[in-house]
Amino acid sequence: MPMDSPSTLSSPPNAAAPGIALKVQIVVIGAGQAGLSAAYHLKRLGLTPHKGFVVLDQSPGPGGTWQDRWPSLTLSTVNRIHDLPGMSFSEVIGTDSSEARASVAVPEYFAAYEKRFELPVYRPVAVKVVCDRHDHFRVETDRIQVSARGLINATGTWESPYVPDVPGAGRFKGRQLHTKDYRTAQEFSGRHVIVVGAGISAIQLLDEVSRVTTTTWVTRREPEFRDGAFDEKVGRAAVAIVEDRVRRGLPPASVVSVTGIPVTPAITAMHARGVLTRRPMFSEITEDGVRWPDGTALRADVILWCTGAAPSITWHHSCCASLEEASS
Ligand SMILES: Cc1cc2nc3c(=O)[nH]c(=O)nc-3n(C[C@H](O)[C@H](O)[C@H](O)COP(=O)(O)OP(=O)(O)OC[C@H]3O[C@@H](n4cnc5c(N)ncnc54)[C@H](O)[C@@H]3O)c2cc1C
Repeated sequence: MPMDSPSTLSSPPNAAAPGIALKVQIVVIGAGQAGLSAAYHLKRLGLTPHKGFVVLDQSPGPGGTWQDRWPSLTLSTVNRIHDLPGMSFSEVIGTDSSEARASVAVPEYFAAYEKRFELPVYRPVAVKVVCDRHDHFRVETDRIQVSARGLINATGTWESPYVPDVPGAGRFKGRQLHTKDYRTAQEFSGRHVIVVGAGISAIQLLDEVSRVTTTTWVTRREPEFRDGAFDEKVGRAAVAIVEDRVRRGLPPASVVSVTGIPVTPAITAMHARGVLTRRPMFSEITEDGVRWPDGTALRADVILWCTGAAPSITWHHSCCASLEEASS
């Protein structure tokens, strides 16, 4: 494939025509919060969009993985959307839009952000292989090829849902799904649903599902409810805990382990409805439910795993393999 001069790429970023080859200093993979923030700072440092850096994103439109969130997740039920550097969320999305779908409002904000800062986001472009070529990376995608001196991976976690390995999972005749696959509570009507997890997503989905059917809440550890507002001070303390672990070379612990579960009016109401009576983690999945170590069994139709996700390295790293070699 011939290596085009990047200066010829003045066409709109979305016109990532198959076959194009780019040569840049930095390639960013992923255009979610992390990728866009990185792109903003690269531009601020003096790198020229298109020639100096590009952002490759496999999603069909702006919004990172926010465009995939379930319909009932609104701006009033997300924790909070942190402003991207240089442009606040409220500049784009009015303060009266608390009931707007997060899957619509956040992509709208990201789209405006990309436009305001003229960020060179190429989409849909899925990175498949990154070859380490000593002094540069060769990035192979499903459409274009990029040669870059440096690479920032910002592919998030959404593509790598985590479900614990519990004996018997394969013989369960009911339905198992992860937070990522959840769309609406109504589809569980009339079924008994076990919700597993102690994070905000688990609580929110438990809240919704328990309004339409019977539920059991299961968590690995005793949930830590926390009174008081989740204000800036508390937020900074949580970030400091994460930063400390990462600086020591440790992976960040789960979000809820540093934030606790803030007691909201919704949680108070759930307590009153009796749906927050937690059971410990079961040790086995049976054909028609689950079983605990003491032999107690529970029949269930659905296990909803709200058990988080792992970092997604969605591309293959290679020293020399090409896309064709890697897929063969
Ligand atoms: C249900 C839920 C609720 C949340 N609520 C909040 C909240 O209220 N407030 C908050 O701040 N955070 C919240 N979070 C966390 C938030 O989603 C993440 O912090 C944020 O989305 C992470 O941004 P990111 O840029 O790292 O990744 P993402 O937003 O996941 O973006 C990654 C991008 O990389 C792209 N990509 C992946 N692989 C490739 C590839 N091989 N080639 C090209 N592109 C690729 C994806 O298509 C995607 O566009 C929530 C998360 C979940 C799951």
